[in-house]
Amino acid sequence: MSATNSCLFCRILRGEIPAQIVYETPHVVAFRDIAPQAPYHVVIIPREHVATLNDTRDPGLVGRLAIAAAELAEREGFAAAGYRTVINTNADGGQTVFHLHAHLLAGRKMSWPPG
Ligand code: AMP
Ligand code: ZN
Repeated sequence: MSATNSCLFCRILRGEIPAQIVYETPHVVAFRDIAPQAPYHVVIIPREHVATLNDTRDPGLVGRLAIAAAELAEREGFAAAGYRTVINTNADGGQTVFHLHAHLLAGRKMSWPPG
């Protein structure tokens, strides 16, 4: 079985698992995180399956996630107050879904260092 068959986020892209999609471009999709860690928390993914940041070779892929986050933050009114974007990688980074994604968290003051 290929990685994309069982990948949770590929299954969301194919419509096999419901998600609250908030943003779509030809390359990127964003949807509400099922376990939000902030008043506004979305997951932004490339339509192309790439497991982790370690496996990413196309700078455009990551750039499009960042631009999508900035556009969403602007659209939702968080740009000026601020927000956080996070890409977790592998075990120590806290990655649980192995389809590259950026978290966009907003609506509260974030602490540093992160947990
Ligand atoms: P990470 O831990 O960085 O790999 O992030 C994976 C994120 O996906 C977590 O924040 C989960 O809450 C979120 N998640 C898992 N399953 C779903 C789902 N079915 N719909 C939306 N978000 C999900
Ligand atoms: Zn995938």
